[in-house]
Amino acid sequence: MMFLLVFDFDHTIIDDNSDTWIVNCAPGRKLPNVLQNSYERGKWTEYMGRVFRYLGDQGIREDEMKGMMTAIPFTTGMHELLNFVSQRKDMFDCIIISDSNTMFINWILRSANFQGVFDKIFTNPAAFDDFGYLAVQNFHTHQCPECPPNLCKRKVLEQFIGVQLQNGVQYTKIVYVGDGRNDLCPVKSLKPNDVTMPREGYALHKRISQMSPAFASLQSYVVIWSTGFEILSYLKLLIEDNVKTIEKSENKPEKIAYI
Ligand SMILES: [Mg+2]
Ligand SMILES: [Zn+2]
Repeated sequence: MMFLLVFDFDHTIIDDNSDTWIVNCAPGRKLPNVLQNSYERGKWTEYMGRVFRYLGDQGIREDEMKGMMTAIPFTTGMHELLNFVSQRKDMFDCIIISDSNTMFINWILRSANFQGVFDKIFTNPAAFDDFGYLAVQNFHTHQCPECPPNLCKRKVLEQFIGVQLQNGVQYTKIVYVGDGRNDLCPVKSLKPNDVTMPREGYALHKRISQMSPAFASLQSYVVIWSTGFEILSYLKLLIEDNVKTIEKSENKPEKIAYI
């Protein structure tokens, strides 16, 4: 048995949005209105590029940004969950697919000593240039009409699964943990044996609850979580092969469970 855990990052592993948190580095902890209003739909990465240029112009350098980012709190129970996963790497492959960037995610994971938990991190590449400015690029291009132009998480997931198959790794079950609108496209590609884990009350949960009938376009099972402890409980059942006790339990609408 080998399970694949797929994690979103913002509002999933950490309990905030790294791209909006960085604004705390700006003078007065806010951006000028002109900059703030310059976001165009679907062009988030370009917008963040302008934010980073502004911060660079204000003399904000790498150390200050890193200190700010590593202060973002983890979601409750995530430390425990990731520690558990790191001890069971014999059963869990673990990846992140995120619309944040490599710099932020690496800072945050390294400072919490979690970089070894993840086999791969798929996110927008970022680096500091010779003048000390952070620059970010789109992760890839794709044809998916549902996703922002820089990232379709479904394409990333399908490519990863394809590469793993070529390496002889076939997953017993995929468990996808996320909260956001851009997590909807990938979870729609999951199979009946897989599990979608939306964060309770967040956009992904709302979107799939509003399907008519609820969860209709999902083949996968759905398990709702609000802390990492609940995900941890579910993974323990998975590796004990006791998960059917949840999936078969009565008195719940459709294929959905609260732990
Ligand atoms: Mg998120
Ligand atoms: Zn997509």
